[in-house]
Amino acid sequence: MGGRLFPLGALVIGVALMSEVSGRCSCGAVRWSHPGPKTRNLMCHCDECRRGIASAFSAGMGLSVNDLSIEGKWQDYRYTPESSRGFCPECGTRLWFKSDLWPDEVFMNVGALGDPGIYVPDRHVVMGEKIPWIHPADGFEGFDGFSVAPGEQP
Ligand SMILES: [Zn+2]
Ligand SMILES: [Zn+2]
Repeated sequence: MGGRLFPLGALVIGVALMSEVSGRCSCGAVRWSHPGPKTRNLMCHCDECRRGIASAFSAGMGLSVNDLSIEGKWQDYRYTPESSRGFCPECGTRLWFKSDLWPDEVFMNVGALGDPGIYVPDRHVVMGEKIPWIHPADGFEGFDGFSVAPGEQP
């Protein structure tokens, strides 16, 4: 029976930690933190996300932009009139995505989380643009486009 106490304890601690999240770039020159809560947890397969972080797809955590704290010198790369990616000019790590289409949110790339293990996605979006060899078998719901219209909360 004692074995059950540990998972329960870990769950309680995990829930408590979910309220605050933080991350950093590869070299540590840029660090961010946020008190929570999260607005979205999604994996995006769109061409822009893929190119923006040069990976097969992106996993992003949506947070309220006004509560985000950033330490260190960072730069913005604006790739469309309304959208940009924040990155560390020292090591090049792409840390977040921001768009006027979602003016109240910033999407942090979860690979840079202090503890990536606290992140659990809940959907795949823009599957219509995914790389052909990707066939998710993780059980998360998939959408051809965005699951929620820009500006709306999930
Ligand atoms: Zn850096
Ligand atoms: Zn995307």
